[in-house]
Parts: sequence; structure tokens; C-alpha cells
Amino acid sequence: MRARDRSSNRVPFQCRRCGECCHGAGGIYLQPEQVPAAAAELGLAPQEFAARYLLRRGEAWEVVCDGEGRCALLGPRGCRIHRAKPDICRQWPFFPAILRDPGAFAEAKLACPGIDPRASHEEFLHYYRQMQSEESEGK
Ligand code: SF4
Ligand code: SF4
Repeated sequence: MRARDRSSNRVPFQCRRCGECCHGAGGIYLQPEQVPAAAAELGLAPQEFAARYLLRRGEAWEVVCDGEGRCALLGPRGCRIHRAKPDICRQWPFFPAILRDPGAFAEAKLACPGIDPRASHEEFLHYYRQMQSEESEGK
């Protein structure tokens, strides 16, 4: 069961799969060892997947965007490589800066409709810690 804030019984974050965080060119990377699993999500060989969706950036691979700044891996029902999506996508909206800084949390609320606008930074942090502890207990 998903963590809830104890004081209000609210869930401070619940992804609505709106795809808003999948817009904006640049910054989405896969490490080379992550490419085969991502390719397998689409039933493609790694080389074919890289040719269609990735650009080499030094040691890593950057996921390309379409002409409107939408991640090329975003489909009508959300991320098409959900189970193998890049670390940064998995981590959002629990970025270190957002966990650390109430101002950054306020900005994240404006960007992400999955964050309950009534949730305080404290509630969000509490929820994150609960989630972490449930994950480490294998719940
Ligand atoms: S912007 Fe928020 S609610 Fe929308 S898909 Fe991203 S994480 Fe989910
Ligand atoms: S890889 Fe998936 S989760 Fe990440 S930006 Fe692209 S569509 Fe969104």
C-alpha cells in the first residue's frame, strides 16, 4: 500500500501520468548498460533503439526529443519504456534540491499536477521517507 501522510491521510504525490515532466529538450540520459533493457521494452535490438531514440553524449546516451520538445519515448499512455526508464525520470519529483529546499518544492508543485497542492514541504519529505522505508522493507 502506498505511503500516506499520517497527520492528514493525504497522499502528497500520486503521478497522474500527464506527461508534463517529459517535455523540455535535453537532460534525459541512459547509461550504456541501461540501453539493452530500455530497448527490450520496445522489442528492439539495442542498436536499433539507439538509432531511433538516442544520441551519443560522451560515455552516455541522451534520449532525443521531437520537434515540439516532447521526449521521443513518450507515448499516449505515458513512458513507453516505463520499467527501464532513465534514473532521472524515476527519481522525479524527489530530486535532492526539491527535498532540501521548500522554494524548489513550491516550483515543483507548479510543474507537476501529481503533487497535492495542499501538501507542505514537511509532508512531502515525510512521505518520501516513508516510501524509502517501505521499499527497503520490500513492501
Ligand atoms: S508531471 Fe508529475 S503527474 Fe505528470 S507525469 Fe510527470 S510526475 Fe506524473
Ligand atoms: S524516458 Fe520516459 S519518463 Fe523519461 S522523459 Fe522520456 S517518456 Fe518521460
